[in-house]
Amino acid sequence: MFGSVVVGIGTAGFVRIRDMLAPLPSSAAEKLSVKGFISRRTLEEQQGVKQITIEDALRRDDIKVAFVCTENAVHEENIRTFLEAGKHVCVEYPMAMTYKTAVDLWDLAQEKGVVLHEEHIELLTADFKQLKKDIAGKKLEEGSLHFTGGPLKPGFGFPAFSGIARLTWLVDLFGELSVTAATMEEDQENKYMKMTTQLMTKEQKPLTWIEERGPGLPRVKNINFRFDSCTMTQLPPAAREPVGLFMQDLVLFSQKLLGQVPRDQLHAERHRVLHCLELADRIQQLSQQGQGSAQDA
Ligand code: NAD
Repeated sequence: MFGSVVVGIGTAGFVRIRDMLAPLPSSAAEKLSVKGFISRRTLEEQQGVKQITIEDALRRDDIKVAFVCTENAVHEENIRTFLEAGKHVCVEYPMAMTYKTAVDLWDLAQEKGVVLHEEHIELLTADFKQLKKDIAGKKLEEGSLHFTGGPLKPGFGFPAFSGIARLTWLVDLFGELSVTAATMEEDQENKYMKMTTQLMTKEQKPLTWIEERGPGLPRVKNINFRFDSCTMTQLPPAAREPVGLFMQDLVLFSQKLLGQVPRDQLHAERHRVLHCLELADRIQQLSQQGQGSAQDA
């Protein structure tokens, strides 16, 4: 069994505890058992699980795994602390706020011989799986993905990082990308922001990615993908799957702990995660330079 601790009791932390208390039957997730949680607040038991200190978690031999479910700004510090102590880490996306940090953390995990896993539930949704099937074999001419949602709480970072799930969709659908331009509009007083990014596929086909957040904006992904044979303007309908998204991710992470995930798959996943974080870094740089074009930089 892998004794685990959950760090950060927000939405994700709550779900992690819930899923470990009732893992998918006959799945690798049954090998995890939650031993406690860590919070900056002093909290009562959560779903029957006790609060423990970080020192305790690091010292205890029966705790082998940490789930890092805090806001993004403190992921790095938490991941590093647990990896240094030789614990496996599952972190909710994004792993870190810079590409270089993610590379360092992954190297540290390798040096310590432990698993570092970044959750990507957006790749496990029924609508994404259906979309991927529907576009297989089609040739992209150009496309856009426009996400809207409510304002983020502090500590979630630059939108290319907090919104890495949308970028990961584009990379998973269309392969490696490059950034040609990025701009950011922000009205802090009104909690409004809009990041507009121009990307290019390896086949030199343009993609636009927009993250727009503000009070009252619905949480929606609008797509417009023009292919050689058709245009898609809506996500395909897909039936909800019986196993929840975080549970699917928990099974994958547990399979990694048990050495059941093929090396090629691990390598491809690491490559995709780092590629997305490298793009996010570039988008942030270009947006903050103000002029926004890769040619100008
Ligand atoms: P959240 O805002 O619910 O919680 C984030 C952090 O804030 C936690 O550490 C929590 O302990 C702390 N927190 C929450 N309420 C607090 C309060 N009243 N006082 C003090 N601290 C408080 O955020 P979340 O949705 O759980 O996201 C956590 C991580 O999970 C992020 O990295 C996010 O990107 C990732 N993630 C979340 C989801 C999701 O569906 N919620 C999906 C994918 C990834």
